[in-house]
Amino acid sequence: MYTLAEKNHKSLIDSLKDRGIIDDDDVYETMLQVDRGKYIKEKPYVDMPVYISHGVTISSPHMHALSLKRLMDVLKPGSRAIDVGSGSGYITVCMAMRTKVLENKDSFVIGLERVKDVANFSIENIRRDKPELLHLDNFKIIHKNIYQVSEQEKEQLGLFDAIHVGASASELPEILIDLLAENGKLIIPLDEGYTQVLYEITKINGKIVKDRLFEVCFVTLKKN
Ligand code: SAH
Repeated sequence: MYTLAEKNHKSLIDSLKDRGIIDDDDVYETMLQVDRGKYIKEKPYVDMPVYISHGVTISSPHMHALSLKRLMDVLKPGSRAIDVGSGSGYITVCMAMRTKVLENKDSFVIGLERVKDVANFSIENIRRDKPELLHLDNFKIIHKNIYQVSEQEKEQLGLFDAIHVGASASELPEILIDLLAENGKLIIPLDEGYTQVLYEITKINGKIVKDRLFEVCFVTLKKN
């Protein structure tokens, strides 16, 4: 019988590679370091989204892979990255591994999560998987709605080379444009009629360039 359920994390990542979804060694190496089984208990090694709580899901492994692929060139040791709607913490930790936050003090990785219980859930996941991250000054999970970031908090956050948004917005939030560094990249799903489309947004010479990628299915980026 053909099944997409794999027995462990390595075989899940290998199956994404075999299916041509992971065609980039950096994405392969990054995802291999972050065992999905530490971020969700139910069916972690099946290529599908899984319900967490409060109406939110951990995205499917293929979605994590496709989003990470678009960000690989702006995720390097020393990069500043933010995961908006960090949920389980899976992509946040992938960003931390890829930018080597443990060794490189210039790297800075933040997960922003609207639901307090979900932010706490991700911290527990990280404590199980990579507890050393929780002792760093350059890695943080913050309970915060992106639409409620004040001017002062925006200043404190600074600019980001890589922004990942794990929930779909009705329109491109102004705050994210402000947080995007020059030559930085923002990956965000945007609502289009009854569907959602993943966009890659870059800032070049202060101008925003929008690249429409493909249709996706995410939870909603909540205004409040
Ligand atoms: N990449 C995450 C996706 C989780 S689902 C993962 O794979 O685990 C999207 C998350 O976005 C949810 O946890 C939801 O609570 C959060 N979210 C929704 N609106 C938000 C907002 N305005 N600000 C911050 N987080 C938000």
